[in-house]
Amino acid sequence: MEKVRIEEIDRRIDVSTLQRPLTDALGASDIALNYYELAPGDSPAYGYHKHEEQEEVFLVQRGELTFETEEGEVVVEEGEAIRFGPGEYQQGVNTGTERTAFLAIGAPRDGGDVEILRECEGCGERTPHTVEWADPGESKQTRCLDCDAVTGRFE
Ligand SMILES: [Zn+2]
Repeated sequence: MEKVRIEEIDRRIDVSTLQRPLTDALGASDIALNYYELAPGDSPAYGYHKHEEQEEVFLVQRGELTFETEEGEVVVEEGEAIRFGPGEYQQGVNTGTERTAFLAIGAPRDGGDVEILRECEGCGERTPHTVEWADPGESKQTRCLDCDAVTGRFE
């Protein structure tokens, strides 16, 4: 058995306003579990993406999230949950006026490759991206795999 207080888990450097990774803190072996808070306009994802081998459930505890999905936009409100299967593209954004809080549950824990599509100004379209450390332990950046441009930096 493991028990944690979410607010005591160190935040992860990430695109989201606040991410607290619970997987290792709880010693979870088969699921990936992350707690998120998002300011209005923020996303928990670096782009429109899919996990090759992982299904993902988002459980909204406060506020609302709007997901871009392969079937159009879907609003998920407080008290609701949404599930994406492996290989399904999605990206959530806080389209509400208040800070959201939600849990993301992924299984299996190690979900294989993640394919991220993100707007690249140089390429003039959404292109495949990678996420890498800009300054190890301090900040991350997104880089276009087509033209090599850095398209975002996150602390
Ligand atoms: Zn590019």
